Amino acid sequence: MGIIIQKFGGSSVADTEKLLKVCEHITKTYEKGNKVVVVVSAQGKTTDKLIEEELEITNTPSKREHDVLVSVGEQITISKLAMCLNNQGYNAISYLGWQLPIITNDTHGNSNIIKINTDKILTQLNKNNIVIVAGFQGITKDGDITTLGRGGSDTTAVALAAYLKADKLYIYTDVDGVYSEDPNTNSKAIKLNEISYNKMINMSKNGAKVLHTKCVELAKKYNVPIHVKSTFKKGTGTIVKQLLS
Ligand code: ADP
Ligand code: ASP
Ligand code: MG
Repeated sequence: MGIIIQKFGGSSVADTEKLLKVCEHITKTYEKGNKVVVVVSAQGKTTDKLIEEELEITNTPSKREHDVLVSVGEQITISKLAMCLNNQGYNAISYLGWQLPIITNDTHGNSNIIKINTDKILTQLNKNNIVIVAGFQGITKDGDITTLGRGGSDTTAVALAAYLKADKLYIYTDVDGVYSEDPNTNSKAIKLNEISYNKMINMSKNGAKVLHTKCVELAKKYNVPIHVKSTFKKGTGTIVKQLLS
């Protein structure tokens, strides 16, 4: 029992049926007496579509307006997921980055988190409510919306785990763990039960998008083990943690 963070990526929340599967993970954890904080990405290819629509207008958008646009997808997911949970009789409340707030620097499109105010989350958890946070986004101290870089919801989840001193962080995705190589393009890829922060940072930098590089760097800094699991398939997944090698 304690604070559990569960993050679900775009393919895990792609449609209503999948959102209901996500609800199963959340409510199962909640029913065990845990306080649950959920981080979600935009549904399916929503962020890609927003960028395509941006390109119909301009190749050189203002960086500020780019972030206002591409952060929109996560707002759709948090509200829908809260509604699904409410329908099932659970009290759930959603927050965008600015509502907490999650303060970042002003490097639009690739911002870093400076500080998270956890007051609202803790108040809701103490009322036994499930908290759903939009991944990928924050706000500068001057009030401009920012995004953390493509795949950045992973980083939101790790940062929340660090600030909330969460007992466990799960990153649920469309593969059942971290593999030696991308299992979707290499049938010989081997699933790893565990991997060190350093090795995972190297893999992410070399394109293993299963975890956002900044998320693993942050996990290493705050010593937050990351449990990578499949949303759809049972299994132990992979733990990314401090290892001697
Ligand atoms: P999510 O939408 O859950 O954030 P991503 O698409 O960002 O998921 O990351 C999951 C994908 O990462 C997998 O579908 C897989 O194709 C890819 N991937 C690349 N390298 C690896 C690896 N070494 N291990 C596992 N998955 C990998
Ligand atoms: N929706 C954002 C993206 O597509 C963030 C994420 O998926 O983590 O990059
Ligand atoms: Mg991702």
